[in-house]
Amino acid sequence: MTFFIPISQPSIGEKEISYVTDAVRSGWVSSIGPYIEDFERRFAEFCGSQYAVSASNGTCALHLALLAVGIKAGDEVIVPDLTFIATANAVAYIGALPILADIDPATLCLSPAAVERAITPRTRAIIPVHLYGHPADMDARNAIASQHKLAVIEDAAEAHGAEYKGQKAGSLGRCGVFSFYGNKIITSGEGGMITTGDETLYRTAKRLRDHAMSPTKRYWHEEVGYNYRMTNLQAALGLAQLERADEFIARRSEIMNWYRSGLGHRADFRLNHEAPWAKNAYWMVCLEIDGMTARSRQKLMEKLRDCGVDSRPYFYPVSDMPMYPDADTPVAHRISPAGINLPSFVDLTRDDVNFICRQVEKSFEGQSDL
Ligand SMILES: *Cc1c(COP(=O)(O)O)cnc(C)c1O
Repeated sequence: MTFFIPISQPSIGEKEISYVTDAVRSGWVSSIGPYIEDFERRFAEFCGSQYAVSASNGTCALHLALLAVGIKAGDEVIVPDLTFIATANAVAYIGALPILADIDPATLCLSPAAVERAITPRTRAIIPVHLYGHPADMDARNAIASQHKLAVIEDAAEAHGAEYKGQKAGSLGRCGVFSFYGNKIITSGEGGMITTGDETLYRTAKRLRDHAMSPTKRYWHEEVGYNYRMTNLQAALGLAQLERADEFIARRSEIMNWYRSGLGHRADFRLNHEAPWAKNAYWMVCLEIDGMTARSRQKLMEKLRDCGVDSRPYFYPVSDMPMYPDADTPVAHRISPAGINLPSFVDLTRDDVNFICRQVEKSFEGQSDL
């Protein structure tokens, strides 16, 4: 096999293999089983939340969260223009309208001023996304939300263990939503979770996840629900990963420091920000280069690939996608083409990171049209 450093890969050890094997052997392979309850309880603890509801993936956890806070067709929900498409899609599943607002250039998360401008009488919720692991500025958001009676749903899919003023992501709004996709900070294969301190929201999400079956009368349903359940197999993998989460997060921070010592000397390069009030979970190493365009970025990524280094472009503004309305989001449009993500996973070695940094500088120097 040729030498290649991927952008991401899960760290699977003996604990993961042992829990998943135990789950398979037990025969509890679907969505009943002890690992589900353990994973939910321990994940709630991890976030400092009272309740947690697991789901088949992060996108359906977002959909469930929106349904559970009462979002209906025609409602408006404010979403950052720079995010993974799932944030907007979950809003669209309900027939509600994602209103795409601009981001803060340092944190890459929803700008509080842009949220304020986007509010109309039809606004019902805000979904701040803790993009690439950096928490959004939640006090500003919660103040706007309580003034206008809006629900705040944190999209923490990329921010397990991130903190805002010492409080964990997922415990900062009405509810938080996580993903455990294979490239996320911890994985269950596919998987998602809602965390909340609101008992009604918790019960509603749990009921809707299971075809809205009556909790007191089996096979009786009074509304249309979903099958968005997580399996015991997923939860076994997720629990093993959760038990290693603190180790993973510390390691990501260390890896980020290696990148900073490799690339930090360049005035035209910008690596991940960490606001004074934030603990960044560093889901992805972010590199923004002054003057980089979509075209020169493509060339840079091809050169990196040729020397065995994977990378990926920043997300594109959601408002550029054909199914969503245009938005006036100059910051998202300026930053999106200037950013790439570099390999970001816990089994990277210092030598790997040094090699990647050298290749980035070399590939960049070779470009005359930047
Ligand atoms: C990964 C991700 C999701 C969706 O999670 P899936 O488990 O892939 O469905 C939602 N929002 C953001 C910001 C994500 O990065």
